Amino acid sequence: MPEVRCPVDGTRFHIPPSHLARLKTEPTCSPECRAEHMRGANHWNYSADGRYTDSDGYVRVRTPDGWDYEHRVVMRKRLHRALRPNELVKHRNGKRADNRPSNLYIAKQRQAGAAVQTSAARVRKGPKTGHI
Ligand SMILES: [Zn+2]
Repeated sequence: MPEVRCPVDGTRFHIPPSHLARLKTEPTCSPECRAEHMRGANHWNYSADGRYTDSDGYVRVRTPDGWDYEHRVVMRKRLHRALRPNELVKHRNGKRADNRPSNLYIAKQRQAGAAVQTSAARVRKGPKTGHI
């Protein structure tokens, strides 16, 4: 039986090879050490706490429906509704990991209906001539 060393407290112990093969984490000597080892950055899967940053720099979070972008989850909470298919959530400061609600806004994707949106915005911003 292979002898392994607990990465938490250094205790040497034995573990059956079949057990070792199934482990996704480094083996530890006790449940207490395991709990300690699972905390924080040591974890084999950086998503252990339900969030990680993907290779594009976006923060992904675990939701009941699976992994989702944190900025979309934050925006849904803020809106109290689901995002529409043409709604993109963007970061004001360009930092993809900065998902404070104040840093997020919705950009409508260009598609049918976008023209209406744009002209409505133009009317609001138009010069105050009294004519529209
Ligand atoms: Zn230990």
